[in-house]
Amino acid sequence: MLKNNRGIGYISSPIFPETVAHGFLTRVGGVSAPPFDSLNFDLRDADPSTNIDENRKRASSALDAALEDLVTVNQVHGDGIHIVTDRTRLRDRPDADAVITKLTEAPVGVLTADCLPVLLFDGANGAVGAVHAGWKGTAKGIVIKTIDAMGRAYGTKARDILCALGPYIGPCCYTVGEDVEAAIRSSFGDTEGFMERSGNGYRLDIGLLNMRQLISADVLKQNIDFEPSCTSCNNRLFFSYRKDGGRTGRQLSFIMLRARMEG
Ligand SMILES: [Zn+2]
Repeated sequence: MLKNNRGIGYISSPIFPETVAHGFLTRVGGVSAPPFDSLNFDLRDADPSTNIDENRKRASSALDAALEDLVTVNQVHGDGIHIVTDRTRLRDRPDADAVITKLTEAPVGVLTADCLPVLLFDGANGAVGAVHAGWKGTAKGIVIKTIDAMGRAYGTKARDILCALGPYIGPCCYTVGEDVEAAIRSSFGDTEGFMERSGNGYRLDIGLLNMRQLISADVLKQNIDFEPSCTSCNNRLFFSYRKDGGRTGRQLSFIMLRARMEG
């Protein structure tokens, strides 16, 4: 559901309970100048860090979440998972494409512009995760590996997971070549339903692919919120690496366990 609070646009999923703060942020409501306009969270490019600090501050207050303690990772399109175990190390940014934690008031997030963000919540054990899934991460099974890592670290069972898939570039706007088709085919066996031939390439649906992985990992279909929204078709709302010609910002998707209210 698209919401706007204090000028900050974000998608909120009805699948998560009130004890979990979360959001798939849009590009709307920040201070960054073109081509990073305007709610950019990516420090790696030329957008001054003062802008990103201000964007973080605005989003914190709009979503009532402690985003000054946001943990993101140095995303490398791999299958590494960062486990946040210690409040004193929230600033660590190892190479990884998923972040998980059991700490409260410690938001974990991923940055995207076309790739798929996935947010996970295990209510039985009180744990959360954020996953960055492009075609490479998807071919490596990053979402399944993140659930496995939550299982090892927290005892998470797939059947207890609630999850939401965020905006990503849809098959309407995402054509890939033979190399990608071959990689996906070798991981999934078949490509029925999520890869269609189009001209010299293939239209790929990474959201459907991740949906299929979640279900194969025993996540219940009714516990998955999947309402596809294409970043390229909705480029005024979302950063899109392809639509914006490669130089653009990154939107934040995060999830955070709220501290329990005592008394
Ligand atoms: Zn599209």
